Amino acid sequence: MLYWKPKDKKAAICFTIDDIHPAKSSDLYEAGGDLEKGALGKVMWLLNRHPKLSVTLFTTADWRETHAFPTRKILSKIPKLRDKFYLSKRLKKGTMSLENHPVFVDFLNQMKQTEIAYHGLYHVHKGLKIPVEFQNQTPTEFDTIITEMLRIFEASKIKNVKGICPPGWNAPKALLDTLVKHNFDYVASSRDVLTPISRDAQCNMSGLKNVPLLYPTFLNNNKIVHIPSNFQVNSSIDRAIEIIENEGLISIKAHIIKQVGSYVALDGVDDLYMNYLDVLLYSLEQKYGDALWFTSMGEIAQFVKNNN
Ligand SMILES: [Zn+2]
Repeated sequence: MLYWKPKDKKAAICFTIDDIHPAKSSDLYEAGGDLEKGALGKVMWLLNRHPKLSVTLFTTADWRETHAFPTRKILSKIPKLRDKFYLSKRLKKGTMSLENHPVFVDFLNQMKQTEIAYHGLYHVHKGLKIPVEFQNQTPTEFDTIITEMLRIFEASKIKNVKGICPPGWNAPKALLDTLVKHNFDYVASSRDVLTPISRDAQCNMSGLKNVPLLYPTFLNNNKIVHIPSNFQVNSSIDRAIEIIENEGLISIKAHIIKQVGSYVALDGVDDLYMNYLDVLLYSLEQKYGDALWFTSMGEIAQFVKNNN
C-alpha cells in the first residue's frame, strides 16, 4: 500500500469544500463572495475553534453555471440534440473570474489554515449533466480548458496547490493525462459516503470507482495521487471512528452553496453542519489526541511525493 502518512500517526483527517467562487448573496446564490459575513465566516469559526484543522477550498477559475438543472425544458427532452446545447443560462465569461475579483482573492489568500486548489474552469457542460465540466472532450480540448484555468489562477495571484476536484466528480482518462502533463500533484475524484468501512472498501458512488475508500492511491502509472472523500454532514461519528480504527483518512466534504432558490443542499455550509463538525472534531481529539494527523489534501500529496 502507498506510504501516505507519518509513521507516528494512526489515521488522518482532512476537510474540503467545493464550488468556491466570488458570487455574493446579491447574485443568484452566495459561494464565498460575502467573505466573513457569508459561508466562509462559518468555516472560519470552525477553523478558529480547531487550530490544527485545515480546509481545502476547491475554487472555480471563472464560474459560469447559473442552474445545475436544465431550465430549457423542451430542448432538454430531445435526445441527441440536447447534448449540443447548454440547457441553462450561462454567466458571461469573466463575470466570476478570479482575475476580476481581487478583494475576494486577497481574502482567500489571508485565510488561516486554508489551502486553495482547483475546481474547474467554468463549472458547466452542454447536455443534461450541467455541472459535470469534464466529460467527452478530446485531449486537445482538455488541454485548452486546463491551460486557461491555470492562466486565470496565475493572473489572479491566488495562492494555490496543484490539486483538483473535478466538478461533478467526473475525471475521464484523457483529463487525468492532461493533469499529469500539467504537473498536478493530486486529483480528488470520488465520493462515497455509503459504502461500509473496511480496509478493502472501494469507492462506488460518485466519480471514479474501484479506488480505495479509506486511503490515497496512485493513478496513471504513479504520476498523480488520488484522494477520496468518504464523510459528510449525515455521516455518523461511528463512521469516523471506524475509519480511524482502519488507519485511514477521514475525508470530509462540504459544498459552499447552501441554497439556490427553493433547493437546499444537504451538505451545504451552514451553522448546523459546522456545529456538527465542531462536536465531531472535539470528540476525536479527546479520544485520539496526537495519533490523529490533521492534514490537507495538498499536504498528503506532498508527503506521498517525498516518501514513495
Ligand atoms: Zn462543483
